[in-house]
Amino acid sequence: AQLDTLDVVVLVALLLGTVAYFTKGTYWAVHNDPYGNSLAQANGIRTGKSRNIIEKMEESGKNCVVFYGSQTGTAEDYASRLAKEGQSRFGLKTMVADLEDYDYENLDTFPEDKVAFFILATYGEGEPTDNAVDFYEFINGEEVSFSESTDENPLNNLKYVAFGLGNNTYEHYNSMVRNVNAALEKLGATRIGTAGEGDDGAGTMEEDFLAWKEPMWVALSSAMGLEEREAVYEPVFDVVEEPDMDPNEDTVYLGEPNKNHLEGTSKGPYNAHNPYVAPIAESKEIFTAKDRNCLHMEIDISSSNLSYTTGDHVAVWPTNAGKEVDRFLSAVGLDSKRHMVISVKGLDPTAKVPFPSPTTYDAVVRYHMEICAPISRQFLASLAPFAPTEEIKAEMAKLGDDKDYFQENVTNRNLNIAQLLQTMSKGQAWSKVPFSMFIEGLHKIQPRYYSISSSSHVQKDKVSITAVVESIERPGAPYVVKGVTTNYLLALKQKQHGDPDPDPHGLNYALSGPRNKYDGVHVPVHIRHSNFKLPSDPSKPIIMVGPGTGVAPFRGFVQERAALAREGHKVGKTLLFFGCRRKSEDFLYQSEWEQYKKDLGDSFDLKVAFSRDGPQKVYVQDKMKEVASEIDELLKQKAYFYVCGDAANMARDVNSLLGDIISQQRGIPASKGEEIVKAMRASNQYQEDVW
Ligand code: FAD
Repeated sequence: AQLDTLDVVVLVALLLGTVAYFTKGTYWAVHNDPYGNSLAQANGIRTGKSRNIIEKMEESGKNCVVFYGSQTGTAEDYASRLAKEGQSRFGLKTMVADLEDYDYENLDTFPEDKVAFFILATYGEGEPTDNAVDFYEFINGEEVSFSESTDENPLNNLKYVAFGLGNNTYEHYNSMVRNVNAALEKLGATRIGTAGEGDDGAGTMEEDFLAWKEPMWVALSSAMGLEEREAVYEPVFDVVEEPDMDPNEDTVYLGEPNKNHLEGTSKGPYNAHNPYVAPIAESKEIFTAKDRNCLHMEIDISSSNLSYTTGDHVAVWPTNAGKEVDRFLSAVGLDSKRHMVISVKGLDPTAKVPFPSPTTYDAVVRYHMEICAPISRQFLASLAPFAPTEEIKAEMAKLGDDKDYFQENVTNRNLNIAQLLQTMSKGQAWSKVPFSMFIEGLHKIQPRYYSISSSSHVQKDKVSITAVVESIERPGAPYVVKGVTTNYLLALKQKQHGDPDPDPHGLNYALSGPRNKYDGVHVPVHIRHSNFKLPSDPSKPIIMVGPGTGVAPFRGFVQERAALAREGHKVGKTLLFFGCRRKSEDFLYQSEWEQYKKDLGDSFDLKVAFSRDGPQKVYVQDKMKEVASEIDELLKQKAYFYVCGDAANMARDVNSLLGDIISQQRGIPASKGEEIVKAMRASNQYQEDVW
């Protein structure tokens, strides 16, 4: 008789047990991985660590896991903050877990006396974040199958807490947390507190989170019999200074993102964990305005195994400006020790150090911490006990407690953390703050995405980006906010052109990277594939709406269709709506469009709206209204409709305008027009690439 699967599993387990017995565990100890899962390895699943969350919790004595689905780091940050607070205020034994690192089939055996948090960001068109895709597909599957339970309510032991991060300007607001919550409830799990929703669109994310979590803690305390205690700060990371180590030793990370890079043999696959240090083949300024910059850059990926298709995104890994690194190190009293080698370890086996170690203070702050971003009120409050004087401590506590006072004095003044610390202490160093606190409280620096503005059909070895350099002056704010990545790119461009002033605004970026590994003109990147795609049949008509840098992917689209036309393919109507301030300042790719027009003839039509050239402001929406009947005609011929750029206002307006155009042109009620647009979205005939 054949052995069935269960028999095989039992036999293998017995055999492994016997081996373990006779080797007295030495075999396992060598691997230093008591959970090393050979089956998972055989299946090609990332291993090295257990993917069994329940085992992991038992092993490390945890009764609370905070899972996160995060794209830009905010959900991950909230997860860490909740874990910290649960531990310090309520004595929970917490751990934070990346959803991508665990399996879910055994959630039906989740112990009743433990709790799972789900902190879930919604990305793009109501999609899960990259690290939550598998979990989302599993939990929403037609038939969710768990390892043990065949019960109708397989998750009736599971207690959970849920918070979502979304943006109300998107069609599928917070759909990730909503759908996961519904799926968990359907499977019999019990939610504690409300399923919170934070709204980035309204700019209230942090306050929504803070307002949600207090009643949640009350509900959780009562469900789990927890008692609140005086919160004392316990560091998550052990930061050990190694004065005997030389920072130039080849084991010390000076900003290299991982071991490959440290060893100088950076190799693929290149992805969100491993950037390719790409040469910048060309760079130029494409605005003619004096006070604003827009960069066009050609990034050479020919020597990597990276590939892209038109409509994908390239992620740029930024470096903080030297000026801000200096400010930060000086604010926290580490200036003189900046090149001290430090080893950083999690004090708890579940704590993940967000950068490789040993390293130096300088490298951590320059390459790994988001030090320029807006400040979180909760983080600010947690710094109060470590203020240099009692007076500053009281002021910090007030800012932390009083939402309006914080808004007025911190948010409205656009301060970053070091600017705030220095302003508060009038220059005195904040040397009492444990460095662990900054690792815990500041985001890990995130790669920034750019819609690729070239066509892979035309130039498969080079991706181009079109980026506006962020420089924001707010009336009354003491500092100008300089976007981290775009100013880094600007400095690289200046360097490439041997500009006499290679250092715009004195930002002083370390352009040659750790150990000069980015020397020449290089930038670390990876590619993110997207669903924003041209129809595979070029004879299909397309309509594109992309004001400002929203035109980036459409330059790629039109470049591709022009090449196809030159090659003799029949290319359908290619209608582009572009908008900018003035013809003479920021009309992106003006001369290129003329070239494409020669290739595409009448099938290419560019409609441009200038908002500041005439007595009246004209926007892309106005241009769309002028040709409403043509748009409707093209839609009837199944034209694909694309929108790219500003998510907050433009994309939403264009969506509703399209509904209006359809309803007016076809003489049907407005609600019907809206429904048609919805159906277009559902069938991918309407695609957005917005940020
Ligand atoms: P950051 O340092 O990230 O700052 C961004 C903004 O945050 C600032 O402008 C300011 O408003 C705010 N801010 C930062 N610090 C503070 C502070 N201390 N106080 C208050 N406010 C603050 N951009 C393009 O130009 N072209 C593209 O083609 C493009 N495509 C994109 C595609 C996708 C899918 C996504 C998600 C984004 C895209 N972006 C694009 C945007 C781009 O990723 C970056 O967000 C943008 O370039 C700014 O990055 P930065 O590092 O220069 O600015």
